[in-house]
Amino acid sequence: MSKKPPLQNLGFKWWEHVTAFFQPKYDMCTDRVIGAEALVRWEHPEKGLLPPGIFIPVLEKNGYIAKVDLYIYEETCIFLKKCMDEGIPLHPVSVNLSRVGFYNPNLFQTLCEIAERYQIPRKYLELEITETAYATDSEMIFSVVEKLRQGGFRILMDDFGSGYSSLNMLKEAPVDEIKLDMRFLSAADPYGRAEEILHMIITMGNHMKLSIIAEGVETEQQKVMLQGFGCNKAQGYFYARPMREAEYTELLKKEKAEN
Ligand code: C2E
Ligand code: CA
Ligand code: CA
Repeated sequence: MSKKPPLQNLGFKWWEHVTAFFQPKYDMCTDRVIGAEALVRWEHPEKGLLPPGIFIPVLEKNGYIAKVDLYIYEETCIFLKKCMDEGIPLHPVSVNLSRVGFYNPNLFQTLCEIAERYQIPRKYLELEITETAYATDSEMIFSVVEKLRQGGFRILMDDFGSGYSSLNMLKEAPVDEIKLDMRFLSAADPYGRAEEILHMIITMGNHMKLSIIAEGVETEQQKVMLQGFGCNKAQGYFYARPMREAEYTELLKKEKAEN
């Protein structure tokens, strides 16, 4: 299938430098893949692969990030179509949506059109929106996100717990799954409170019947702790790093062959 030409010519062929990597997500009870997150990478001709931390702040300032997000979303749809066509196990893939993209009044329609072009059922497309994006301009973001959710997309609140109004916002935020901020698992925890906070958030999420995934899981101890607290989904270096599409495809095929 030929790829749709880029949505808009921005002066240089930026899309030739942009690639989607996939980081698998796991069920910690079965240690099996349950999906992936698409993460953008910039392929620099001399410097090699650049992580998003280097170029996203620039793209956010000039607004290009919204185009890049749609490009990664389309790459994801193309990948899912390939899975459907080739009998590769089909799992949802989440893409990150920058706050900038929500100012596009056609966002919902564009996401629907791209999914339809590749005949991807929307339940396989998950949208990650950071908690801080929810917190700024929340009325507008809430209404667009609710529309997306009503339209069949699964909504993930990324970096949950990183903002200042997390708990209050949960009251009314349209969301299906929360992704725990990975800083809860980081070494910096001078008062030893991070574990208690994690436990509390997971218990609360379970009571609210919200799905919960932990991000940045790097060790077996963290895995055991999270499971003990009632969280069963994880993403992190303990399981797998972000990888190229070909490698993720091999992983899915291998899992299929083993079971
Ligand atoms: P994020 O959405 O919170 O993505 C998770 C980041 O954590 C990824 O970094 C991932 O590689 C990293 N990570 C995963 N597991 C571990 C772990 O066990 N330990 C540690 N230390 N890190 C882990 P990455 O790919 O560098 O992305 C950084 C951020 O850039 C993302 O954070 C997201 O905010 C943004 N980003 C990435 N791709 C896109 C995109 O396509 N669109 C937009 N708007 N933002 C993106
Ligand atoms: Ca994310
Ligand atoms: Ca995150």
